[in-house]
Amino acid sequence: MAKSRFEYVKEFERRDVLLPQCYIVVRIDGKKFHEFSRFYEFEKPNDIRALRLMNAAAKNVVLHYRNDVIVAYGESDEYSFILRRDTTLYNRRQDKIASLFVSLFTSQYVALWPKFFTNRELDLKHLPFFDARCVAYPNLAIIKDYLSWRFVDTHINNLYNTVFWQLVQKCGLTTQQAENRLSGTLSNEKQEILFTECGINYNNEPEMFKKGTMVTRKGEFLHIDVIKEIDRIFEGY
Ligand code: ATP
Ligand code: ATP
Ligand code: MG
Ligand code: MG
Repeated sequence: MAKSRFEYVKEFERRDVLLPQCYIVVRIDGKKFHEFSRFYEFEKPNDIRALRLMNAAAKNVVLHYRNDVIVAYGESDEYSFILRRDTTLYNRRQDKIASLFVSLFTSQYVALWPKFFTNRELDLKHLPFFDARCVAYPNLAIIKDYLSWRFVDTHINNLYNTVFWQLVQKCGLTTQQAENRLSGTLSNEKQEILFTECGINYNNEPEMFKKGTMVTRKGEFLHIDVIKEIDRIFEGY
């Protein structure tokens, strides 16, 4: 860039560098996807095309940053990318990392849309967009807890949504009645309601719905019990 008397404005820029020696988690999440999913008529509670599209977009992000990413994990409209503690990506600048991950993810999502939603074009007034944040975590124990936290969230949400929508779609309850029926119930009670009232064994639901999706550095998709496998996932890191 040519020197000019205006160049001093650059001095106002801040460089927020993520702490050294810390693992970095970049989490992206769809903006107003409740509305977005209604507009594009996602199947409830789990539209498989939408999940596969999220996974495909995440896989391409992982492959692009394969030297820095350890693993990625996603569910619903979110994905977490876990970066090595010694990464020097963009000199660990938070705004660079967050903005580049989320814009690459979004452009992948848009570009891949027609592969998954073959009969429905994206509407310019309803385009998908995502937020992003970076968090630095100081040790592997906390990173394992981070992933376990997202995994438990997947389980809790999916069990609730599965029973809720079965009560509505199969048993003819209104959404309000279904909500009341589930209010205050524990996990095993929800599974019992699903079995006795809807004839569905939760264990037989698709693994991707129950467990979310892990993307390895090689770009493989795994639907595994994160808590049980957590030590294996981070072996060597
Ligand atoms: P960084 O990733 O650090 O932003 P960069 O290569 O994008 O690196 P910038 O300082 O953002 O560098 O500069 C953008 C560059 O893109 C310009 O120097 C120019 O070479 C090119 N460029 C941008 N817009 C145009 C355009 N309309 N026509 C031709 N070249 C362009
Ligand atoms: P925010 O902008 O605050 O993130 P949001 O509407 O995106 O708001 P989230 O908590 O992120 O809220 O939840 C995402 C919502 O998107 C889910 O509650 C669900 O309604 C919808 N959704 C996402 N993925 C799917 C899918 N594969 N199938 C069906 N619905 C989905
Ligand atoms: Mg969202
Ligand atoms: Mg979300």
